Amino acid sequence: MTYSQADRHFLPYPLPQIIGHEVIVAIPDSHALLKDADFAAVEINNNCRQISCPYCANNTLPTQCPRRITMGINTWPGGLAPFMVVPVENMIPVPRNTLSLLSATLIEPFAAALHAIDSSSLQQSDHVAILGTGKLGLLAILALDGRRRSDPKLSDIRITAIVREGNLQHVSLAKSFGADHIISVPKSEEGEESALANLEFDVVFDTSGNPKGLHRAISLATREVHLKSTHGQPVFGMKHWTEMVVAELALIPATAQNLISRLAWRNPTAPARLSATREKNMNIYVAPSAADQLPTELLNHSEYTLYTDLSIAEADAALESGTLGEHLLSLGSRLPRFDAAIVSSPEDVDAVVFPSQFHDKSLVAPRGAIFYLSADSSRINENAMELLLQNGTIISTSRCGDFKRALQILLQRDGDKAELIGNKLQQLVTHRYSLSDLPLAMEVARGNRVDGNKPVKIVVDCANVF
Ligand SMILES: [Zn+2]
Repeated sequence: MTYSQADRHFLPYPLPQIIGHEVIVAIPDSHALLKDADFAAVEINNNCRQISCPYCANNTLPTQCPRRITMGINTWPGGLAPFMVVPVENMIPVPRNTLSLLSATLIEPFAAALHAIDSSSLQQSDHVAILGTGKLGLLAILALDGRRRSDPKLSDIRITAIVREGNLQHVSLAKSFGADHIISVPKSEEGEESALANLEFDVVFDTSGNPKGLHRAISLATREVHLKSTHGQPVFGMKHWTEMVVAELALIPATAQNLISRLAWRNPTAPARLSATREKNMNIYVAPSAADQLPTELLNHSEYTLYTDLSIAEADAALESGTLGEHLLSLGSRLPRFDAAIVSSPEDVDAVVFPSQFHDKSLVAPRGAIFYLSADSSRINENAMELLLQNGTIISTSRCGDFKRALQILLQRDGDKAELIGNKLQQLVTHRYSLSDLPLAMEVARGNRVDGNKPVKIVVDCANVF
């Protein structure tokens, strides 16, 4: 259980909801399907699995199936209860004598952190920074280290953790999880400014969970900022960051360079979402305000179909009626939404991400891209989005991960040692409670009560296994 689970009211899902989406289940000895494991992690997405669903058919993008329910988050009752119902295919067994039970309780958030690393544009010799070393930041460090151990192309990436001064516990965890450098940042604004002045990183993972962190991440990154946390607050005049993260959309400055190299849709499930591989018949929605400023680089590429004559509301209505989606599928889109959009104001980014109060679907397909075109150079000093555009930095986002992929990384040995890198995770478990102490656990998670150390990960034992 984490703070985010205790305070989930800003998520766009109906309440009430039994929470608990990081769940480990003990497996009875007699279970025929799960013989080689004592416990299993529960995969939290349950998609519709209908052959007629473009997200589920051919396994195109099942984690984004519009009819999915999500354990402990949306409709499907979660783990903070004496009983729960889980389809057997959502049970991901943890091989016997590998991860400890406590380490396994972190598979879900680790999978999400790893998915962030996998869906970013990491390249050989990159210098990567992790901003924020709360639970998510530490998991991202371990995921980066796991990636470079398993992927020869990334073996020389360097990992820098940016930590608040005085947070000694997290400094030692960050080192143990694989950070090569630690930068301690004073709490004061001026102190932070001077500690980070003139630093540059190829990719910055912002796990700070606050709008200032995102500004900071953009000032530090030369190529990409990956946004993983959903704080629900407006930044750069945009309100719908949470929905952007849920749909795993990327916001890309529409520089000529980015338009040519980033307009990619190789495979919506492939990690290299922003690769340079282009396909024909990319369907791109162009907001009316951007239509007369399209760069010639784009107009000259005949493989893209541009939709320039629909307002955002008209495009949403046509997609909701189903006809436009069918048309896009027939022209080569893998999902019945636009592959990308081009807009020229923060308001239009918001409207493309969240076009209607009546549903939660973006105009752009999940894992698609929104290109942001400069509206008016005279606004540059007033509008932080324009600064972003000048830098050319991509903001990418991601959500849930894949548990089997997470286990692949976690079950690697730690160099010559016998221990698995995944068993470092148990160091994050700071508190354990029984289910009858749930009210206390919630108060500690919220920071309203102190019970020993500052909490990182709190485990609630609903089945008396400890
Ligand atoms: Zn589906």
